[in-house]
Amino acid sequence: MVESEQDVALEDTDRIEGRSALVNNTNAAIALAGAVRSTLGPRGSDKMLVDENGEIIVTNDGVTVLETAKVEHPTANLLIATSSAQDRIARDGTTTSVLLTAELLRNALELSRIGVHPTIIMNGYRIAMEESLTQLEEIAKSASEDDLIAATATTMAGKVDTALSENMTKLALQAARTLENEDGGDDLERIRVKRLQMTDGSGSDSEIIHGLMLKKQRLDFTTETVSDGGKIAIIDGGLENKELELEASIEIRSTGVLSGFQERKTARLAEQIENLTNFGIDLICVRDGIADEAVPLLKNAGITAYRRFEREDLERLSILTGAKMVRNPNRMTDKDVGIYTHFSANKIDDSWHVRIDGKGRAMTALLRGTTPAVREEVSRAFDDALGVAFRLVREPKILPGGGGTQTHLARHLRSFATTQKGREQLAIEGFADALEVIPRVLAENAGLDPIDEILSLSAAQAEHGSWFGLDAMSGEKADMNLMGINDPLFVARQALTGATEAAITVLRIDDVLWANVEPSTPDWSNQIDED
Ligand code: ADP
Ligand code: MG
Repeated sequence: MVESEQDVALEDTDRIEGRSALVNNTNAAIALAGAVRSTLGPRGSDKMLVDENGEIIVTNDGVTVLETAKVEHPTANLLIATSSAQDRIARDGTTTSVLLTAELLRNALELSRIGVHPTIIMNGYRIAMEESLTQLEEIAKSASEDDLIAATATTMAGKVDTALSENMTKLALQAARTLENEDGGDDLERIRVKRLQMTDGSGSDSEIIHGLMLKKQRLDFTTETVSDGGKIAIIDGGLENKELELEASIEIRSTGVLSGFQERKTARLAEQIENLTNFGIDLICVRDGIADEAVPLLKNAGITAYRRFEREDLERLSILTGAKMVRNPNRMTDKDVGIYTHFSANKIDDSWHVRIDGKGRAMTALLRGTTPAVREEVSRAFDDALGVAFRLVREPKILPGGGGTQTHLARHLRSFATTQKGREQLAIEGFADALEVIPRVLAENAGLDPIDEILSLSAAQAEHGSWFGLDAMSGEKADMNLMGINDPLFVARQALTGATEAAITVLRIDDVLWANVEPSTPDWSNQIDED
């Protein structure tokens, strides 16, 4: 009875059940993977994306392609979420994770066609993933200084030219080392390192400073432009006494006394500024506005003032100088006062810039380029490099790139499968086949024959060991560590777990209901494989 009521409720809903659901979901995943397939590796091609406003982006970054696409299919969206998670956690490997997910689903569909139940496939996939994770640890190598450089540069392979890549690698590792022992989550390197695009100089003049630099002018131009240290206060609000204005408007309506209000406001500001003076403050940074009446008072007190900050910049300043954010100077205590070691106000390319240095671990990357497009490119390269370098110095373990890791896992899993009982064996083999999508597509994008390359890579590993991979630039099979084609362990680990989890989520679905939307499978697949 209950069922029939539900059926009535579902009358207007499109419904796909059982195997058809798997077929439909797998097709969506394969189509989506098709959209990024040609971007994989150093010889991947660029894509031109046009968004709703007609803005154009040229990129060969998988996650950018996917996040810009408008996709309605729920499975396609799940894959996009998987690649966004990969980006958040590992900052790299986004294309890899999508290709792997789609391939795991394709093989699962094949297995279900020959009668293997999805539950068995899921079990087999889980066993294969666990075994793969153990293997990754086994073949991973502790990274030397040169390896760290090579692995960071591999992240940018095919995206920027060698000179820029070298420079960004150097800056990223320098910043990463500074943050090595700091506590914080996935975003720590973005919080602690401000990126400031500068119009003076070229990309290779970019640098890291151990301070905060902002494009900003000081409140009063007669205050000092340089100092080699002093005390700083950070006001998390305004120096305006807005609440007085509110009181005053009520008062003015009832009594009409305006001057009394002005006097009170100035008196309150004077009291706040006197309190700053009592703490010996030389510099204040205020999140909101500063009232006009405060300007001469600050000047007399010898306090340099800046206003209107982004919250993140104040957080960086707080880390740098040890100053705590206070809402009201009157409530300040000794513990809230920070120390800066350098201050300067400079005109660069006609704009005022402020620089504040301190002993805490926050930095600014000055990313230079002569045109906006170059500056954007430099910024993106720096972001990729820092994200990976930061994680690498915390976990300095590397794996062979160039499809070496996946080839090793596939070879290992095929012999491992025979030790397992039942039909799970088939699923483990399906998992092994899926991993080979990475060397296959790397070969394809380098204009090589994928079947020949997979066979000869597997043979090369049998002879020379698991660190052999495909150098997509020369087409040779070689020791990836010698070639400097190193993938970080954390990237490979996340791609493997993220893709397996996503595939299992889809496999668990045997009923898809669509209400009021026209679900369409993304259909880029035909355009993608053309030359
Ligand atoms: P993702 O979004 O998955 O990071 P990329 O386009 O960055 O995709 O490609 C990463 C893959 O390219 C990795 O498997 C890496 O080992 C491989 N790779 C990088 N440089 C080379 C190279 N010179 N030869 C072969 N493979 C390479
Ligand atoms: Mg990459």
